Amino acid sequence: METCDVLIVGGGPSGSSCAWKLRQHGLAVTVIDKSLFPRDKVCAGWITTAVVDALQLDTEEYGKKHVLQPISSFRTGIIGGGDVETQYPGTVSYGIRRYELDDYLLKRSGAHLQLGQPLKSLVRDGKQWIVNDAISTPMVIGAGGHFCPVARFMGAQVGADEPAIVAKEIEFKMNSYQYFNCQVRGYMPEIYFCHDLKGYGWCIRKGRYLNIGSGREDSHGLSEKLEQFCDFLKKRGRIPQNIPEDFHGHAYLLYGRAKRKQLDDGVLLVGDAAGLAYPQSGEGIRPAVESGLMAATTIMEAAGDYSQARLQTYSNRLLGRFGTVAETNVKAPVFMRNYFAGALLENKWFTRHVVLDRWFLHSGQESLQAG
Ligand SMILES: Cc1cc2nc3c(=O)[nH]c(=O)nc-3n(C[C@H](O)[C@H](O)[C@H](O)COP(=O)(O)OP(=O)(O)OC[C@H]3O[C@@H](n4cnc5c(N)ncnc54)[C@H](O)[C@@H]3O)c2cc1C
Repeated sequence: METCDVLIVGGGPSGSSCAWKLRQHGLAVTVIDKSLFPRDKVCAGWITTAVVDALQLDTEEYGKKHVLQPISSFRTGIIGGGDVETQYPGTVSYGIRRYELDDYLLKRSGAHLQLGQPLKSLVRDGKQWIVNDAISTPMVIGAGGHFCPVARFMGAQVGADEPAIVAKEIEFKMNSYQYFNCQVRGYMPEIYFCHDLKGYGWCIRKGRYLNIGSGREDSHGLSEKLEQFCDFLKKRGRIPQNIPEDFHGHAYLLYGRAKRKQLDDGVLLVGDAAGLAYPQSGEGIRPAVESGLMAATTIMEAAGDYSQARLQTYSNRLLGRFGTVAETNVKAPVFMRNYFAGALLENKWFTRHVVLDRWFLHSGQESLQAG
């Protein structure tokens, strides 16, 4: 039987960040993932600078071999309506490819990797866990995304009574025709909201790659809305006419709307497994990375006592970082949704200070300095 100090199920940004921090403190960490890396992940691939800071990512080094598109402006509006350009004096975000970033972070973590290995069994044996009948460990991290098997093991009713965001996207390498007929600029992603403000569509250009997608609070009519969005972009001449049509979908939970248990004796959930994405923007990579780092700090402080009571500080950390449910429940009020959405989203002040600074860039919140 193999042993390790911590076993992490899932090698996405939450799992790899947790592994990276634990390895820096000398713990023996194994990551198992059902996929072989590099692997595709359904995502727009937009990260804020807070993610770069928390991961101590050397952008110059990373950018030499990977797509790293600095973003300093946005074009925003409402689907079918006018738009507003907002410019910042410097880089406020980056466009990345999940295919590349997740692989890079996982390899950088220094953990022992068992890839192409799904979690098949998880059995409690005293204070130990026996994973897949092969690995014994006192501490398991559930980092398997929305459908995480560890979350299910802890009682999550995945897909049953959970109000999930549903989103679809396509990312493709543009051919020469598409490249020259794409008006979206790399430094200026485009975001257009649905009229009911229950979702938005995006278009992000990263070098030769183009990512187009749409996400909504309710799955009803997503494909139809996505089609309308693509038609809108084509009519405006923003994207080439001949884009591929094999969009891929995924679901995930927003922070404060998920009722998943975050921890138990010898186990913690991080990232999408815990349902932590920002409610206003749907950004999930930052909470995934930050929760992975906070889980690692909690484990180090626990110094081998992985009882539920000792691990409770993890929940306190999440609460301190992401706020209470009431604080995060900042949905646009109904009157705004119905009558003023169009006008507000064409207003430069509102777009910059509320939509971008507050909802998308969280510019009032410092980057996480994980110890
Ligand atoms: C269409 C779309 C667009 C998005 N765009 C953005 C964006 O631009 N920016 C942003 O910040 N967020 C975005 N998000 C959200 C973001 O993708 C997630 O919040 C983020 O990936 C969560 O990271 P994670 O590590 O928790 O989970 P994941 O990235 O989902 O990683 C989970 C890992 O667990 C593995 N796994 C799953 N099941 C098992 C199993 N049974 N056994 C072993 N391993 C398993 C998977 O193979 C995977 O590698 C988007 C989401 C969607 C759906």
